[in-house]
Amino acid sequence: MHRIGVLGLQGDYDKHRAMLASLGVEAEVVVDPSGIERIDGLVIPGGESTTMGKLMVSYRLLAPLKQRIAEGMPVFGTCAGMILLAERIEASEQPRIGLLDVQVSRNAYGRQIASFEADIPVAFGPAPVRGVFIRAPIITEVGSKVAVLAEFEGRPVLVRQGAMLASSFHPELTEDTRIHEYFLSMFDN
Ligand code: GLN
Repeated sequence: MHRIGVLGLQGDYDKHRAMLASLGVEAEVVVDPSGIERIDGLVIPGGESTTMGKLMVSYRLLAPLKQRIAEGMPVFGTCAGMILLAERIEASEQPRIGLLDVQVSRNAYGRQIASFEADIPVAFGPAPVRGVFIRAPIITEVGSKVAVLAEFEGRPVLVRQGAMLASSFHPELTEDTRIHEYFLSMFDN
């Protein structure tokens, strides 16, 4: 059994924990460097990426996390979690893990009032997923090693590079567990 962590500094980490629990995976809520040593996969939730990044620095999580992910530890970032994984964030120098070869534009799908849902066709299954977008980042560029697993209005919204998976939207806010199942399948290949 893999030891999966959910980064619990801020944001909707408990929704990810509950979704993983519904799949039979008891994830650890990680808040300190010793937690990072205990896990072999991590979910970084949605929330506020600037706050989460600052907390990652002050809780001394940024450097060890960056190292584990660079070494190939599977990671799944949703929304703010994706922003923290991104190499390039338009008009921002905020702290980040910065290993996913994409450029993102924060809040580009609109402010809170403009949050929306849409059906998103996905590469790994016949039925679309329900994409919940909340002040979501737009992926404005992807590098050549990045596979686009889903698009919305011609832009990538679910991407994978090696053992890093990232979505602009929030699968943990729906009943559909397929993207979390896909993440769990990444531990085997
Ligand atoms: N707008 C947030 C940010 O820039 C992300 C929103 C979310 O995670 N739902 O960090």
